[in-house]
Amino acid sequence: MGALPGVRVLACVLALMGAASPAAAQREVPAPEGWAALQDGDAAKAASIFRQELERRPGDPYLYFGAGWAAYVLGRQDAAISALKKAVEIEPRFPQALAMLGEVAYAAGDIDLAIRSLEKAVKLSPRDRRLAQQLERWRSESAVHESLAEKTGVRFRILYEGGTQQALGDRVSRVLENAYWTIGKTLNSYPSETLTVILYTDRQFQDITRSPAWAGGGYDGRIRLAVGGALKSPASLDRVVVHELVHAIVANTAPRNIPGWLHEGLASYLESNDHAWSRAVIRRSGTVYPLEELTDGFGGLDRDSALVAYAESEIAAEVLCAMAGPNLGVFLQMVGNGDPLDQALLAIRVQPDAFRAEWGKRIGLR
Ligand SMILES: [Zn+2]
Repeated sequence: MGALPGVRVLACVLALMGAASPAAAQREVPAPEGWAALQDGDAAKAASIFRQELERRPGDPYLYFGAGWAAYVLGRQDAAISALKKAVEIEPRFPQALAMLGEVAYAAGDIDLAIRSLEKAVKLSPRDRRLAQQLERWRSESAVHESLAEKTGVRFRILYEGGTQQALGDRVSRVLENAYWTIGKTLNSYPSETLTVILYTDRQFQDITRSPAWAGGGYDGRIRLAVGGALKSPASLDRVVVHELVHAIVANTAPRNIPGWLHEGLASYLESNDHAWSRAVIRRSGTVYPLEELTDGFGGLDRDSALVAYAESEIAAEVLCAMAGPNLGVFLQMVGNGDPLDQALLAIRVQPDAFRAEWGKRIGLR
């Protein structure tokens, strides 16, 4: 998932209230405490304020906008989409709600709704270059997808270039079906929604995901794989496929609050049975990052630093899996619900100090 909304919320709302119409300029911001809560990062409180306020003023599009925003931050995409649809149904000239509806629909994998909403937003805000560029990117992504063949099963919908990628598509499908059960068992989570998996050429992958050049795959609500160069070897393709599936299943269990090192660590640890590489990377590297510095994704790191970050996260996940055993799923749910990491560890009877000490020992800290 990209950067979540939530910063500068109030400034944005004040701007939109002023910009909407001369009449709106005199309006007060509805439920200011709700927006303040969003700005403070307390989306649950914001959601409850907007819900209460909507009972008193069920026709207010700004309240639906706030409710949709809060639901999105909470990872409740369906609720966010229905609140934002309501906002733009009541007030069709509401570019911010249309843009956010586009963003949530895109995150939920509904690119048609995303494009339709953003087209309307761009019409209403023709000078917003960021919106126009976003629309352009989504249109070209959609055009790429329309040119692809599709293999749809119960759990996975795989898009690939018919002909040249037929064998790859079949292989990816087999790997996913097998891994679904083993990873599901480890994480105690079996997503029921169909997951979209798209095979790209390396060039398409870079264009669409804007990932660093070292990335071979990504997950943002769908699994995207670059199958051109780096993943030509079947073994490395299988690893990346499983790696991204772990991200998808973790995100299904805990749509937010999972620190980067935990997401990447679990994905790297569960992607294969080969765990020697992380030791080798740590031995070669002079630096180790504290896990607390690895709470965001690794997309901003260069190739070498990213490798170290993956290696130490992988070792942390290995320690965690051994200590948590069958309670790993419960632990992830707790962290996903916003419980502090140490509290979630204690709840599954893992001493946080013991976890950190074992991790430190395995990466060679003294
Ligand atoms: Zn990853």
